[in-house]
Amino acid sequence: MYRPALPLPIHAVAAPSLLSAGPRTVPVASRIPQWGTLHAPRPSFAATHPATVQRRHQWNRRPDYVYFENTRPPIYARRSFWGYAGVCLGLGGVYYMSHLEEVPLTKRRRFLDITPSQEEILARSAYKQIMTEYGNRILPPSHPYTRFVKEVAVRLIAVSGMPDLNWEVYVVDAPEKNAFVLPGGKIFVYTGILPVVQDENGMAAVLGHEIAHQVARHSAEKMSNMKIVILLQVLLALVLSGEPFWLSRIFFDLGIMKPFSRKVETEADYIGLLLMAQACYDPRAAVDMWQRMSMATRNEPPQYLSTHPSHNERIKMLSKWMPEAINKRDLSNCATVGSFLDQFYGSARAVW
Ligand SMILES: [Zn+2]
Repeated sequence: MYRPALPLPIHAVAAPSLLSAGPRTVPVASRIPQWGTLHAPRPSFAATHPATVQRRHQWNRRPDYVYFENTRPPIYARRSFWGYAGVCLGLGGVYYMSHLEEVPLTKRRRFLDITPSQEEILARSAYKQIMTEYGNRILPPSHPYTRFVKEVAVRLIAVSGMPDLNWEVYVVDAPEKNAFVLPGGKIFVYTGILPVVQDENGMAAVLGHEIAHQVARHSAEKMSNMKIVILLQVLLALVLSGEPFWLSRIFFDLGIMKPFSRKVETEADYIGLLLMAQACYDPRAAVDMWQRMSMATRNEPPQYLSTHPSHNERIKMLSKWMPEAINKRDLSNCATVGSFLDQFYGSARAVW
C-alpha cells in the first residue's frame, strides 16, 4: 500500500543541538567553497531520490476515487467480480430455463424447481404452527359446519385433477373472515367467513379459490421465486455496497413479491371459478360472495401495498370471466351430476 513520503525528521536537518555546550565555531577555511566543487553539476532529484520519484509516479496514476490512504475500490470495480457474476448468471439462466413449466388451465409459463414432496416438507412447520395456535379450536368432523364445508370441498376436489392428494379440511372456530390452504392440500376455514359465504355456492367460491392455489402449486412457485430474489438481493447488495440493505428489500417487496402475490391470487380466482362451474355450482355466486366480503371488510389497505387484489378488482375480473364459466357449467352435464356425486362420496380417497 502506498504511504506518502514524509518530510525528513527534524533532527536530521536541525541546527546544532541545544544540548551542546556553547556556540559552535566553524573553521574559516571550511566556509570558503573549494574550486571545482562550487561549479560542479548538481545531481538531479531523480538520481538522488529514485524511490520518492517512483512513489510520486504511482500516486499520479491512482484512480480518482481514491481519496484516503485506506480506501479500497468497491467490489464491482474488480474485474474478477464481473467474471464470477457472469458465470453465475449464465449457469443460473440455464437452470432457470430448464425449470420452466405451465400452470394448468391458464397455461402461464413459470419457474418451478420444488418437487411436491419438498413442498409438503416445507409446509409441515406451518402446519405445526397453525395446529399449536388453533388446534384446540378445530371443530370435530361431526359438527354441522365441518360437514357442510367438507361436502362442498369433496365436489370441487373431484374435478380438481388432484383427487389422489391427501386432502384435509379443518374448520376453525375463530372470528376471522378467512380461509387458506397449505401445500399438500390442508385447507383451513374459519367460522368467521361462514356468514359471508351464506350457502354452498358461496362456500364453493371460497373453496374453489383455495383448491386452485393447490392445483396451480402457487406455494411451490413462491418458494422457487424466493431463491431468485435472494440471489438478486445478494448481487445488488454487492454492487450497491454502501447503500442501505432495507432499500433493496423494499424494492423487491413492493416491486416483485407483492405484484407476484396479486398475480397468483387473480389466477386462483380464475381457476377457482372454472372449478366451481365444473363441479356444477353457480359461478355467479362468486361475484355475490365478494360483494358481501367487500361490505364486511371495508377498511382494507391500498392495492399496491397489499398481497391481494382489491375486492372491486376481483369482482371486475370475475364478471369478465363469467361467460366462460357459465359455458363450462353448461358443458359439465350438471343435470346428472347429483347421481355421479353420490357414487363419488362413497369412493373418494380424500382423507377427512
Ligand atoms: Zn388466495
